Amino acid sequence: MNKDFLKELGLHEDNSGTSTGQQGHHNEAKHIVSFSPVDGREIGRVSETTREQYDAVIAQAQVAFKHWRTVPAPQRGEIVRQYGEALRKHKDALGQLVSYEMGKSLTEGLGEVQEMIDICDFAVGLSRQLYGLTMHSERPLHRMYEQWHPMGIVGIISAFNFPVAVWSWNSMIAIVCGDVTVWKPSEKTPMCGVACQNIWAQVAAANDLPEGISSLINGNYQVGEWMTEDKRVPLISATGSTRMGKIVAKTVGARLGNSLLELGGNNAMIITETADMNLVLTGALFGAVGTCGQRCTSTRRLIVHESRYAEVRDKLKAAYGQLRIGDPLDKNNHVGPLIDKDSVATYQSAIEKIKAEGGKTIVEGGVLEGDNYVSGCYVKPAFFEVTKESKMPLHETFAPILYIMPYSTLEEAIEIQNNVPQGLSSAIMTTSMRESELFLSTAGSDCGIANVNIGTSGAEIGGAFGGEKETGGGRESGSDSWKAYMRRQTNTINYSTELPLAQGITFDL
Ligand code: NAD
Repeated sequence: MNKDFLKELGLHEDNSGTSTGQQGHHNEAKHIVSFSPVDGREIGRVSETTREQYDAVIAQAQVAFKHWRTVPAPQRGEIVRQYGEALRKHKDALGQLVSYEMGKSLTEGLGEVQEMIDICDFAVGLSRQLYGLTMHSERPLHRMYEQWHPMGIVGIISAFNFPVAVWSWNSMIAIVCGDVTVWKPSEKTPMCGVACQNIWAQVAAANDLPEGISSLINGNYQVGEWMTEDKRVPLISATGSTRMGKIVAKTVGARLGNSLLELGGNNAMIITETADMNLVLTGALFGAVGTCGQRCTSTRRLIVHESRYAEVRDKLKAAYGQLRIGDPLDKNNHVGPLIDKDSVATYQSAIEKIKAEGGKTIVEGGVLEGDNYVSGCYVKPAFFEVTKESKMPLHETFAPILYIMPYSTLEEAIEIQNNVPQGLSSAIMTTSMRESELFLSTAGSDCGIANVNIGTSGAEIGGAFGGEKETGGGRESGSDSWKAYMRRQTNTINYSTELPLAQGITFDL
């Protein structure tokens, strides 16, 4: 395999001395070794940030913030514009790295980089639109308005499955808001983090920007904990499992810091009597097996009207038979590997539990072996028939396992859909206006994302992204998500010669 993309992104076998925002001596540092789930080979290694280096990174970010917050927002936007241009230049190389290090298809890897470019464009426009409201004061000759100020250091903790896009959703918005960012990528995809930071370093150097506007730290959960415990970091934006989010929320909450949480999903598609079957098959299949079931928005449950149940089950079963599993960099394949062998073990144990609780196999799973699957991370997408009483569909298994169950009334279907701990993405497939409006109403889906005739998987950057309940409640990316990265200040200005006190109080002096 041609690995020129590594060179283009400034990546070496040993990334100790790269421009990662780390300081100090790297010789003693421990390393994270990155293995590709595609072929099991070592891609390279990245030095783990030590506590001493961490403190230096934060100190530098504090200094950088004092400068960056004074730079006019549209000028901050210009830097983000240039970052977007640099991403356009390196899109192919970065897309290949995402695909090789994470295991998603090359098309999805390139799509992820395109999302980064799109969020840069969005953030550039936003840099001229960080609007506050003007209110009418109840007092004469007074003016009242609100303004939005940057918060300071935004700590970004990200998951392996979107190793570059999630960082850009956070950082590009935070940076136009006048914040500075410190990123701890997943220890499963550290090379992607170094690559993004290297591209940032090029843009920063071309503009004589100080160090510390965007920084990178590397390591496992302990390095993440340094940030969540650190009062110098007013906002933690964490993407990952609900297990992680509960710990982060507690730690950040204990110091009354702000957290923005993007956690697990358990996304369902309701397929009604009136659904258009072409849309159903494409939406359900891609939603369930795309990215090998490792999207937070992957479709995990199909809730199907009893009149269409057998048809959906049988057509999907046939479609599963057409899937090609293998090297995700080969465009002929539909499904790549899971991220690592731990994930494979989780997938296998989930299948055992489903069978033990009476789930009926429609498409058998299993781990693939042989020359094309040497990494040991390739599995067959599995499909099970369950009932609404089954317990396993209440859990998010981060693998291509799909459940199907029947319903008789739409109210019942909505109840089944909402009756899980998570609340990220949801979809209804229907051609009935009444059904779709009920699904979108207050009595409908309780998720942060509710789609009609589109699958659950993926989202456009223009909307606010996130979900309710155990998904964490945070919103990122488009709409007014930027407000989470700023502090709001209400200003009242008196331009009279009187000082009227509130509630009619008089104070004779
Ligand atoms: P994970 O929770 O294992 O790790 C995510 C990140 O959190 C990593 O960088 C990890 O080092 C860090 N971390 C773990 N414990 C921590 C702690 N105690 N303190 C600070 N940092 C800690 O998740 P993963 O396996 O990388 O990703 C899969 C999960 O992420 C799935 O549940 C998926 O649904 C979720 N996810 C959610 C979204 C979303 O937007 N809602 C997006 C992508 C992934």
